[in-house]
Amino acid sequence: MPTPAVTAVGKVFLIGAGPGDPGLITWRGVECLRRADVVLYDYLVNPAILRHTRADAELQSLGRHRGERLWTQTEINDRMVEMAKRGLNIARLKGGDPIIFGRLAEEIDALVSGGVPYEIVPGVTAALAAGSYAGICVTHREQASAVALITGHEQEGKTAPELDYEALARFPGTLVFYMGVTTAPQWATRLIESGKPPNTPAAIVRRCTWPDQQVISTTLADVANELAAAKMRPPAIVIIGDVAAAPADWFATRPLFGQRVLVTRPLGQTAGLEGPLTELGAMCMIQPAIEICPPANWLAVDAMLDRLSEFDWLVFSSANGVRFLLDRLLSTGGDLRRLGKSRLAAIGPGTSEELARYHLRADVQPDEYRAESLAAALKGDAQGRRFLLVRANRGREVLAEELTAAGGAVEQVVVYESRDVTAADEQVVSALSEGRIDWITVTSSAIAHSLARMFGDSLRRAKLASISPITSGTLRELGFEPAVDANPYTMPALVAALVAAENST
Ligand code: SAH
Repeated sequence: MPTPAVTAVGKVFLIGAGPGDPGLITWRGVECLRRADVVLYDYLVNPAILRHTRADAELQSLGRHRGERLWTQTEINDRMVEMAKRGLNIARLKGGDPIIFGRLAEEIDALVSGGVPYEIVPGVTAALAAGSYAGICVTHREQASAVALITGHEQEGKTAPELDYEALARFPGTLVFYMGVTTAPQWATRLIESGKPPNTPAAIVRRCTWPDQQVISTTLADVANELAAAKMRPPAIVIIGDVAAAPADWFATRPLFGQRVLVTRPLGQTAGLEGPLTELGAMCMIQPAIEICPPANWLAVDAMLDRLSEFDWLVFSSANGVRFLLDRLLSTGGDLRRLGKSRLAAIGPGTSEELARYHLRADVQPDEYRAESLAAALKGDAQGRRFLLVRANRGREVLAEELTAAGGAVEQVVVYESRDVTAADEQVVSALSEGRIDWITVTSSAIAHSLARMFGDSLRRAKLASISPITSGTLRELGFEPAVDANPYTMPALVAALVAAENST
């Protein structure tokens, strides 16, 4: 008799995704996400975390991310068991920590009865994240030796005993309410009736760790009024106790807190701006204005790769140029010896850093990061020298012209193409036209042109942060006045210019 085919049962990883900031998932959580065939994520989970998933993983929202209906608990349980039995590994992402107010017990029961193996990966729960991000130490040597995590939303008809408000009122420590926004009038009143002093300090923390986090300091007696006055919607945490009296707010006091910045660099190259801007408190939206692509074919580049050592100078006017040239060299079986004794020139620190990633040091980098200055740095000894300019399909001709005029023998190789992105994301279009973007970064002339085509006059609704005088000149020619420009012409200086502008008043 033939043996029936055995399909190994997949495993379910019940993962805490943390309170919102995608950096607050654990390393183990990321490892499990990378392995998953299927990802089921709750409505409180920040979809940015999904960047850790495999490209071929099936991603399923369990509701509300784009207005979809919420899945029922039974549907979730059945789906997990059914997929695991088909041999798939499942990452079940839950907001905060999975064992806190997440109905995890029901999911575990379903997995156990379905014979499905599982692992629970802890996460940062909202109460603790709210404490950290509002600067409230929920335990304190003098003020609180215990913390209680409490639901403000008791399930109707449930069998567990009701909350004992008298015990909670006597509790010698900090009380933290989850799911307490709509029910605040009831639970706050019950606590006060049970003997908790009405003037006990309270802090409401909404959307903790997200760039639009809100913190309201109040008292137990006023929690419900404050929530109503601020028209506050979930998710929010309410921390009650002496420790909540004076939040040490490091989060909302960051220099760019609340600023909405549109980053327009090509995909994959936004990190140099997005990282520091976000850390300084800004909310970044991404809308690439140009895309960077390999050349239509590699014939000209490959031919040049065989001749690299013939040149006295390899001149790089962008980090992309470094990357495309050297990646092609390495992926076609060559190595850095192909560069021979050629010297290397880089237009600025970003380009030099890219060279350094390939263990190469720039011999020349001008003090001012523009083509004219690079030409000036090379011109003195250009007579009879052979230069290879490594470049994009479009860009300025200054370098070639000036080096030729100085007696150099100049050749050029196009190692990547820069193209305009023509269609903007609809959400970005509406955010800009409704005045919901404060700043737009403009980090090259090509980007300036593309933005003008993409957004037209709407560009006036935000302040423009320009990378250099050349880019500012392009913006002005197009009829737009930059609000700040960077000096030196680097991403860190652009960020610094934004900070200076926002904190000058
Ligand atoms: N398992 C989650 C809690 C789920 S219950 C955890 O460990 O955090 C949902 C409640 O969590 C919300 O009603 C709210 O009270 C709280 N919550 C979740 N994310 C939050 C956030 N970013 N800011 C404030 N409260 C949050």
